[in-house]
Amino acid sequence: MLEFAEKTLTVKIDTSKCDTCETKACADACKKFARGLLGIDDQGRASVAHRDTEEVLRLGTECLACELACKTKGNNAITIEIPVKGLDEYLLKRQ
Ligand code: SF4
Repeated sequence: MLEFAEKTLTVKIDTSKCDTCETKACADACKKFARGLLGIDDQGRASVAHRDTEEVLRLGTECLACELACKTKGNNAITIEIPVKGLDEYLLKRQ
């Protein structure tokens, strides 16, 4: 499991699913719609190992393109968690 933080969100990637992924669509989407933060390592898995933590924070645009690309063209390995302050309280009020 690969996990890394951007400014306001956390990206979690079950990289075991990358082994059978033929498209590697996440990296293409990251290059096309953001700054190419996400890459593919020499084992064919999604990776940010070629970047240091500061670079990941600086380059991350929080565009969510990798998650959508992986869900629609890859093996549905990416989950992005975005905490929304006050959301739990709001949902409780609506019940
Ligand atoms: S598209 Fe998804 S399954 Fe394919 S390499 Fe990227 S993260 Fe892994």
